[in-house]
Amino acid sequence: MEKKRIAIIGAGVAGMAMALLAKKQGHEVQLFERAAAHTVMGAGVTLWPNAMFVMQQMGLAQQITRAGGTPDSVCQYDRSGNRHNALDIDQLNGLSGYATVTILRRDLIRILGEALRAQGVTVQFATTIALRDIDRLRQTFDLVIGADGRMHSVVRQALFASPRLPCYQGFINVMGISKFRANTLSNIIGDFRYPGERFGIVPVKPDMCFWAGAWRTPIDKSRPPSAWLSELKQRFGGWAAPVQSVLKHAEPESVRPVFVHDLDPLPYWHKDNVVVIGDAAHAALPTSGQGACQALEDAWQLVSLMSHQEELSAVLSAFYRLRVEKTTMALHAGRQLAQQLFFGQGDMSASQSGVSVALLSQLWMQGLSA
Ligand SMILES: Cc1cc2nc3c(=O)[nH]c(=O)nc-3n(C[C@H](O)[C@H](O)[C@H](O)COP(=O)(O)OP(=O)(O)OC[C@H]3O[C@@H](n4cnc5c(N)ncnc54)[C@H](O)[C@@H]3O)c2cc1C
Repeated sequence: MEKKRIAIIGAGVAGMAMALLAKKQGHEVQLFERAAAHTVMGAGVTLWPNAMFVMQQMGLAQQITRAGGTPDSVCQYDRSGNRHNALDIDQLNGLSGYATVTILRRDLIRILGEALRAQGVTVQFATTIALRDIDRLRQTFDLVIGADGRMHSVVRQALFASPRLPCYQGFINVMGISKFRANTLSNIIGDFRYPGERFGIVPVKPDMCFWAGAWRTPIDKSRPPSAWLSELKQRFGGWAAPVQSVLKHAEPESVRPVFVHDLDPLPYWHKDNVVVIGDAAHAALPTSGQGACQALEDAWQLVSLMSHQEELSAVLSAFYRLRVEKTTMALHAGRQLAQQLFFGQGDMSASQSGVSVALLSQLWMQGLSA
């Protein structure tokens, strides 16, 4: 495709990856971000091999791996710490051909931001794009990409006559970061469960982890942030030792509640020269473990299609056809696990470990080859 002028709205994972990959293909990119500086939603992410495939294509895999951790398994425990199931990440990585890396979100965003600067792409911070601006952008640019997230995407709004709003799925995730030496878990992602409640601990460095406590609850935005750490300590008070340790060493300023919403599948993601990617197009629950991974895949697939096809409308139609099945699978996987965890009996077999490592690798690596 000949070089295009591209406007990207939102400098999150999807927008920054899109800007980097498009710039590398020689397109002219402008990136608009409403926040005054890069924002950090959540404490950390696990970049599964499909995400690390994209990092490799962006030339960032080494940097990401250096900044993050490489866990060797996910283990499920009951709240007393008795181990029930395990997923062998080393085996998954071997089958997939790429590592799994856990990383603090602030490091992920920093690395993407530095890579953008190195490519000469500047982010126009403190620039909120409103619904009425989209028409102007679509006339000024060849392509307008909405990477403006799950909750209030104005680009998604511009695509549909009636609003497509995210739905609350009935549980909260309270996330944070702790500095401590996790002897008991070392290099294991720990997934502690009790019917209706879950506490996950993700090691990043020997002295650093991120974590999330989750439970079923109605939305309550009246509490101050400090109240959530107290609630966590009370709610998970009798749980296994690693849970106690992370809560004891939590960095209070990192603690953040998210009332978790996802998005029903959309019938299309583009109209004329306007398209949505990432959470704006297909926001899955954190129980899918795939939100940021799928946002990265979107960026890589869209840019790949642009390099192989001339006609923009054909590219955007092909992009939806190529991506909708996998992202819908992530959505359903996230909902199914959330249902079992928070509204079922907390069945210890309800997890990715119910799926074979070979199948998981096949599912997540589907459609990815350089
Ligand atoms: C609690 C929780 C835990 C999660 N854990 C994981 C995990 O472990 N692994 C994983 O892969 N995924 C995880 N996810 C999902 C992951 O965070 C998202 O899927 C991913 O961040 C999506 O990236 P995005 O760029 O599409 O959207 P966002 O990261 O939301 O970025 C959108 C950007 O657009 C900007 N913006 C919005 N509106 C406008 C506007 N009008 N004008 C200009 N800018 C605008 C915002 O400020 C923001 O910077 C988690 C999600 C949640 C809620």
